[in-house]
Amino acid sequence: MTSPVWHPFTQHGLNEPIPHVVRAQGALLHLADGGTLIDAISSWWVTTHGHCHPRIAAAIAAQAEQLDQLIFAGYTHDPAETVARGLIDLAPRGEGQPELRHVFYSDSGSTAVEVALKMALGYWHNLALDGLAKARSRILVLEHSYHGDTIGAMSIGERGVYNAAWQPLLFDVGTVPFPTPVHEQACLDALDAACADKPAAFIVEPLILGAGGMLIYPAWVLREMAAICRRHGVLFIADEVMTGWGRTGTLFACEQAGVVPDIMAVAKGITGGAIPLAATLATAPIFDAHRSTDRARLFYHSSSYTANAIACAAAVANLAIWREEDVLGRTAALAQGIATRLERLAGHPAFANPRQLGTIAAIDLVAADAGYLSDLAPRLRAFFLERGILIRPLGNTIYLMPPYCLDDDQLDHIFLALAAAGDHFGG
Ligand SMILES: *Cc1c(COP(=O)(O)O)cnc(C)c1O
Repeated sequence: MTSPVWHPFTQHGLNEPIPHVVRAQGALLHLADGGTLIDAISSWWVTTHGHCHPRIAAAIAAQAEQLDQLIFAGYTHDPAETVARGLIDLAPRGEGQPELRHVFYSDSGSTAVEVALKMALGYWHNLALDGLAKARSRILVLEHSYHGDTIGAMSIGERGVYNAAWQPLLFDVGTVPFPTPVHEQACLDALDAACADKPAAFIVEPLILGAGGMLIYPAWVLREMAAICRRHGVLFIADEVMTGWGRTGTLFACEQAGVVPDIMAVAKGITGGAIPLAATLATAPIFDAHRSTDRARLFYHSSSYTANAIACAAAVANLAIWREEDVLGRTAALAQGIATRLERLAGHPAFANPRQLGTIAAIDLVAADAGYLSDLAPRLRAFFLERGILIRPLGNTIYLMPPYCLDDDQLDHIFLALAAAGDHFGG
């Protein structure tokens, strides 16, 4: 019988194989047929320390017997309080910068971004009610961005074949060109000019654009972007959904630029990747604009599972791991292991543009037909699957974003397969 399951980002008409996974441990996925796969992309960027981390699994089990789920409008529980305090403790900070002081929960990166947008517009709306500012609603974005797949998140992301059907529903935004090497100033000038029109906010993926193709830009550009926004009184939103939790070599990417955003979205690795949870952090002015004796100004957003206690307990365990273990030592060692091998691979004639930021590495396969809809990516996927590796290229960009427990043998195996892919598909 064919499965009734409709998979995301999957063309069922092509009958590509859908591997069936029954168990996971560390960096390994165990298949129903007895085989194993190295999870080289952290099951779509979420698994940080490794699958089924014992501390996180134990926290989930214990919480499930204590308090599973609670309405979060007007009620609270320990795990949510602990995670919120932990997030505030760990959030980026810097002299002369605002402080992230408030935590709003949701359950995916997309909703954390939607919440960020709603907070930004809510801020301006409520200031306008007091006659303190004109209401603002325009959002500025960076070219090639990705912020999720809900309507609002798609609106602020790159337009393409993957959202063509819904373009009539997407709202208009101002797009700033991506800061490609030597053209950084053009990007900053465009942002400066766009800020003069008094937009509500600028949202950015700090230091690296993920789904847009693992495009890296320097920390000084991020710092300048934040400074320009501050100068114009435009809210600066950092989408740390992918970059957070050590991926770029620091806990949050903003740290490398010494930037504290007005609003910051986190999700993916917040529970170590075990269970969905997301948070949107905000500074006091954003919160205070909604705090009032007037019910019309409260923040009208919720979902049924906001701050689910089991998910929060997993995040408590993840934060404890970050506090008590040398996670950044682990990511630094992994980054080093990737760097030496990537350098060797870069000599292969089939590859171009090797790039790396922390534990994220990417390289482009030089191939004749490399467009988003070409069958190169699915053929590469199948090639790696045959070699026991889960890798999901973006067009002709092959990237790695492994869990931090990946060992040297697994890294060697992955890079041998990458070189073989170059031999097979290159030219
Ligand atoms: C994955 C991602 C999102 C969306 O997160 P979901 O949990 O998949 O909704 C948003 N922003 C960035 C930068 C992402 O990489």
